[in-house]
Amino acid sequence: MGEGRFAGRTALVTGGSRGIGRAICIQLAREGAWVAVNYAESAEAAAETLDLMGAAGGEGVVFQADVASWEDTSAMFDAVEAARGPVDLLVTNAGAASFQDDVNMPLELWRRILAVNIDGAFHCVWRAKEAMLARKDGRIVCISSIQGLAPSRIRRDRLLAYGTSKSAVIGFARNCAVAFGPDIRVNCVAPGLIDTDMTKDMSDEMRARIVGETPAGRTGTPEDVAELTCFLLSDAASFITGQTYVTSGGLVTLP
Ligand code: NAP
Repeated sequence: MGEGRFAGRTALVTGGSRGIGRAICIQLAREGAWVAVNYAESAEAAAETLDLMGAAGGEGVVFQADVASWEDTSAMFDAVEAARGPVDLLVTNAGAASFQDDVNMPLELWRRILAVNIDGAFHCVWRAKEAMLARKDGRIVCISSIQGLAPSRIRRDRLLAYGTSKSAVIGFARNCAVAFGPDIRVNCVAPGLIDTDMTKDMSDEMRARIVGETPAGRTGTPEDVAELTCFLLSDAASFITGQTYVTSGGLVTLP
């Protein structure tokens, strides 16, 4: 450890056990960061992420916490700080999706999706910001979704709570960038369709329709999202804050 553009940095990635979060953990570790890998339930998968980080020449530790809970999240930061000191690089990636009939969506589902996706981001940023402000240095990336920019016209239903929460993540990141500048940079990444557990149950027909509308002609990989996230966390992005970057193969283009 110690080589690369994140050498000496302490990173915390929520939802690092699988999918996009895992790819971000591995890339950060490969490039020198010490990485706290958060997970909610998948202890084995989180341990695998740690192994893959090790194979990439990196180091870190896994921490269980439900980011929807302030107490859990705060205890996780306490543990990270005790193990390694304050967090320099934060990625709020943990997310939950609701693939259900929107019209009849139960209240409990709405509450849970919002609790994980937006309260979860808030809890982490709130817990991380004091130390970042004190040291006048912090970089945060919040993972949103193209569903947070506009509801899909291809997948017409089943993402109401998810899309709403991801719009809130974009607004949250923008507001934090203004509130915490110039000491902390806060940006958002809005991925399109990425091949992970979250999207594995999509029908072949739906997948083909989405790919057919995508100029890049393919679905995305977790590594596509990790690459953009790490750029935004790096010194190369020092003049970028409050922005939302889309990685969707051109399926969505910002005005
Ligand atoms: P995934 O494969 O389903 O993985 C979700 C990750 O989030 C897991 O590591 C999971 O931990 C963690 N997680 C879920 N609820 C949590 C909680 N309450 N507390 C802590 N961790 C929790 O999902 P993914 O596709 O990699 O998605 C990652 C992020 O990208 C999400 O925010 C998602 O909304 C966003 N995104 C995904 C896509 C896509 O097409 N895949 C597109 C746009 C945006 P456990 O393993 O312990 O369950």
